[in-house]
Amino acid sequence: MCRTAVHNGELIISEEKIEAPGLLILRGDNTGRYPYCNTLVIGEDRVVVVDPHSSRSAIEAITSRTEMLLFTHYHTDHIRYHQLFHCEFYAPAPDRLAFSGIEGLAQHTGILGSPYETQWFKRLESRSWRMPEVHNFYKDGDSFSLGSVTLQVVHLPGHTKGHSGFLIPEYNLLFTADVDFTDFGPWYGNACSSIEDFIATLEKIRQMSPRYVVTAHERWVVYAEELEEEIRRYQNIIQQRDEMFLELLKKPMDLNSLLNLHPIYGKSGMKNDFMINFMEAQMIEKHMQRLLKKGLIEKTGDGRYVRK
Ligand SMILES: [Zn+2]
Repeated sequence: MCRTAVHNGELIISEEKIEAPGLLILRGDNTGRYPYCNTLVIGEDRVVVVDPHSSRSAIEAITSRTEMLLFTHYHTDHIRYHQLFHCEFYAPAPDRLAFSGIEGLAQHTGILGSPYETQWFKRLESRSWRMPEVHNFYKDGDSFSLGSVTLQVVHLPGHTKGHSGFLIPEYNLLFTADVDFTDFGPWYGNACSSIEDFIATLEKIRQMSPRYVVTAHERWVVYAEELEEEIRRYQNIIQQRDEMFLELLKKPMDLNSLLNLHPIYGKSGMKNDFMINFMEAQMIEKHMQRLLKKGLIEKTGDGRYVRK
């Protein structure tokens, strides 16, 4: 269903884009589903672009008038098409290591030293993958403005260490990037990711109480009146994952046995791949650390986990 709305004559929201003076949000190909994302553009004659991997033709139409390209974090589905731009690149300071090159990316994600390291390096080589050259790093509270519209950096860690969103105060609109309120739920599958930070980020978004939340993927706009329910749903998914592990750990299990059950990715329908295994293993391990810290499970002498 095509949902179109005009709020106070300010924002024009359709299934393909959101428009207002000085603001354009392009919906990514395939409704912004991975590996595409939604792209935020501010300015008119000259523009600032955030996360370019939406739709190649739409991006090619704005590259020549782009002054700055900003990344919310380092994941490939947000940085592809960077090679089409000839301007200054900006990224969040806490993700600096990942933007330093392939080695740094391997370290920041946790793939370095994991059983998946060799396959990962081979895959990147076969795709001639290069990280964008970023020389400018922003931090929470920094702002970028062009014309009548401002982008305020809002650090929203958890998904990655530096993961950031942008508040556009003129429209009370918060672009939350990969706090995306999809059915999959919160994602924290890199070494630098954190469940506790993700929970704090959800609370931060609640406290900010924006009129519109726009995400980087499938879920397009979350209106103010829907936000509380969406935040609770996301909090509950983390809680349900904890409970699922407590149920499984009525008998001792090691990480590999847990991973073989695909307790998090199993329902997603995503094809089995070493990267899925890597990310899911990281997510399981983070739940184990969290449950150990809460004193709800313990580790046996042979490295298995069991409910107390
Ligand atoms: Zn991401």
